[in-house]
Amino acid sequence: MALQRTFSIIKPDATERNLTGAVNAKIEEAGLRIVAQKRIQMTRGQAETFYAVHKERPFFGELVDFMISAPVVVQVLEGEDAIAKYRDVMGATNPEQAAEGTIRKAFAKSIGENSVHGSDAPETAAIEIAQFFSGNEIVG
Ligand code: ATP
Ligand code: MG
Repeated sequence: MALQRTFSIIKPDATERNLTGAVNAKIEEAGLRIVAQKRIQMTRGQAETFYAVHKERPFFGELVDFMISAPVVVQVLEGEDAIAKYRDVMGATNPEQAAEGTIRKAFAKSIGENSVHGSDAPETAAIEIAQFFSGNEIVG
């Protein structure tokens, strides 16, 4: 497997509780390298675009309100098999189902306020990275 990049968000429930460093420690312990990172306040438009795949779901409005409720940290992570590896480190969407040692098991408050996002495929990773970073902001 070649080096791969994935897109990560440290979500408002985590930034509000000052858990940015604790989340980053789990990312780095897993062997993933943070090759770009910035703290931003997402606009409603950015959040709606980012989660457009879920726009027909009943939780869409709640999800967008949550994502703009406080600052987030957007990141690009690099490593071998980074997309699948980060999904493993994140744990299941619902923290009650997340495995021991995962970010969501350790920190998530609920299925909605679940501390982190990670891309689910190479195509979505490329689109998500391009939504928030220009090429010269990513230094591997
Ligand atoms: P993400 O895309 O944020 O990495 P995921 O891929 O594990 O999470 P998705 O099914 O893509 O899960 O859902 C996107 C996000 O929508 C979840 O992370 C969560 O914040 C929110 N969400 C998903 N299901 C629910 C639900 N039943 N109720 C409330 N919020 C939900
Ligand atoms: Mg998802």
